[in-house]
Amino acid sequence: MDINKIIENLKNNNMDAYYVTNKAEALALTEKLLKKGDTISCGGSVTLSEVGIDKLMRNGDYNFLDRSKPGLTADQIDEIYAKTFTADAYLCSANALTEKGELINVDGRANRVSAITYGPKSVICVVGVNKIVKDIKEGFRRVKTVAAPLNTKRLGCNTPCAKTGVCIAVDGDIADGCMSDQRICASYVICGRQRLVNRIKVIIVDEKLGY
Ligand code: SF4
Repeated sequence: MDINKIIENLKNNNMDAYYVTNKAEALALTEKLLKKGDTISCGGSVTLSEVGIDKLMRNGDYNFLDRSKPGLTADQIDEIYAKTFTADAYLCSANALTEKGELINVDGRANRVSAITYGPKSVICVVGVNKIVKDIKEGFRRVKTVAAPLNTKRLGCNTPCAKTGVCIAVDGDIADGCMSDQRICASYVICGRQRLVNRIKVIIVDEKLGY
């Protein structure tokens, strides 16, 4: 895996790209890419917690649209999702990053893939090297064998993969999967070459982060 080539491919795809060696550098760079007073929001992400970005977002320097604040009603959460479209910055990870510089994400509710693809002025995507895959096919396979099973287990979803560690449709087409009401695979999004130059910024971290 040639990180420099991946950075070059991301830049050719009009996404800004950075490489850092550890979580502390990723946190410092994320802070640098934000401005105090920015309205910010985020997707659910183990990576953001591991890097310390969840604490950064809550340190009082930003207007954080926090959908995980205790006591929010379903309507209030919907309101936060709607406000996210006008945020200054959106923080997230990805389910996979291809060597060609494409981001792969699969969502259940699509609030994260929506914000990544449209709305917030800036998207900061922090990706551990464990999420780098050869190509799109391998990326969606990673979703079915790593990301979705571990996330459904973490979230306590009643899905086949939470019990077995692998999607029931691992060898099927991209969108094949289970019939569970709690399925987290619904919208399958690939970010290829972007029209808005450098709206998406990818920070590759030379550590295993999230899943
Ligand atoms: S489709 Fe269902 S079984 Fe397959 S990975 Fe997604 S949640 Fe798991």
